[in-house]
Amino acid sequence: MTASPLHIDGLPPTGALINGRWVDGGPRFVVDDKFSGRPVAEVAAATRAQVAEAVRVTRAAADGGAPPPHDRAQVLRRAAALMEGYRQRLVDVMVAEAGFTLADANGEVDRAMVTLSLSADEALRLVGDVIPFGASPGAHRRIGFTQRFPVGVVCAITPFNSPLNTVLHKVAPAYAAGNAVVLKPSAFTPLTGALLAQLLLEAGLPPAFLAVVQGEGDSVGAWLLEEQDIAFYTFTGSTRVGRIIQQAAGLRRTQMELGSIASTIVCADADLERAIPKIANAGLRKAGQVCTSVQRLYVQRDIAEEVGERLAAYARTLQAGDPRDPATKVGPLISEQSAIRAEQWLREAEQGGARLLCGGQRQRSVITPAVVTHAPQDGRVWCQEAFAPLLALRPFDDFEEALRDANATPFGLSAGVFTQDIDRALRAAATLRFGTVQINETSSARSDVMPFGGVKDSGFGKEGPAHAIREMTEERLVVFNP
Ligand code: NAD
Repeated sequence: MTASPLHIDGLPPTGALINGRWVDGGPRFVVDDKFSGRPVAEVAAATRAQVAEAVRVTRAAADGGAPPPHDRAQVLRRAAALMEGYRQRLVDVMVAEAGFTLADANGEVDRAMVTLSLSADEALRLVGDVIPFGASPGAHRRIGFTQRFPVGVVCAITPFNSPLNTVLHKVAPAYAAGNAVVLKPSAFTPLTGALLAQLLLEAGLPPAFLAVVQGEGDSVGAWLLEEQDIAFYTFTGSTRVGRIIQQAAGLRRTQMELGSIASTIVCADADLERAIPKIANAGLRKAGQVCTSVQRLYVQRDIAEEVGERLAAYARTLQAGDPRDPATKVGPLISEQSAIRAEQWLREAEQGGARLLCGGQRQRSVITPAVVTHAPQDGRVWCQEAFAPLLALRPFDDFEEALRDANATPFGLSAGVFTQDIDRALRAAATLRFGTVQINETSSARSDVMPFGGVKDSGFGKEGPAHAIREMTEERLVVFNP
């Protein structure tokens, strides 16, 4: 028996957005509610011709030149102001299609407003450098400066786990810089992206400057990679897909926010009152589906048992289940298949000698938050990105050994260290090969103003509007020789 559709008020149009018009497209795919499995909407995947048209229209807009910075900032500010009025619709859609709890969905909206405001500010201060020509013999009369120009068409390809704020971390700085954007949201969460596009148009974004094409990565995503009029790909998603996009981009520039196994280290002198709730939240919010989620937790041996017990006691208090229930802290994973995979990894770890201190029970797409110790060092819970509500704790005796082990993954997005010892904190900052090292914070404490991005297989390029706007512009040197 097929489940009856779930009605949600105020759903956005379900086709492609090209030149300010929503158009129906190719085959339709079902977007379901991630907790109940009930269908929410049918979305039309863009056709090959629509992808080409979206790029043609945005390219023409970019070639014609964007409105001046002041106007662009105003649009982004208006969008931030409009967002409160869109909050309920955005939250309802994210709770359904992403499975977010009410707190997680509202958190996305709060942060999205900040990202818009920061991007508006950056539109107004996109400046270059003055070149000190006097430093070169014979050149002292020259006057030179750099200016930044938009790259043209920016293609944003985005994941399911932050369908609003991660999309805005691409679209808002891209437009602030004067680019036109083609957005392809995740096929798990297409409605949030469409609703955001509606909001941006209402805020006055010129229609030709934003196109949205919906669909799967191996069709619509792959077609976008064939389009040579795209100047820049900004991608957040798995390392596997990042490699495919990078290969297709050739000499065109990209920004790659990829996979991760994030580590947090807790030393015996840590303030556990502060650290325990932070760690639990950072490992378990969005059901652990955050690129910086604490997955590996290294704890100094003297306090390892205490930390394990306190974390498990805390995790047991977190209600898992229906994301519409305000008491729920851990909602469903993005699919039942993802939950089955996580469950298998945990069972496999237990067979290899791991101890499950709490959780790890699955009901459809929901997994109760799990804290596990003694996970085999070559097992998947320890060695592959979990993207599930699980924290794996390992005791350490020697701080240097913990640093070495945290570094020994192919990834390098973010790490955290809890310690009161300044020398250890500085040693960690100098040694941990990650894009971000947080002291007295977990790996997962992002503020939208931060330069954010990884190293190694976690990618390259920085998000955070002030940084992304530089990525998405090209620098030109202008020299006067009087
Ligand atoms: P994914 O790589 O499966 O998909 C991301 C996007 O790429 C989707 O829109 C998808 O349709 C598209 N895509 C898939 N195949 C494609 C192809 N061949 N060509 C073009 N596009 C294609 O990732 P996901 O499962 O949606 O997200 C989870 C992953 O994202 C995790 O690995 C997580 O670590 C990563 N992530 C990283 C960051 C970061 O900042 N580093 C942030 C959030 C998520």
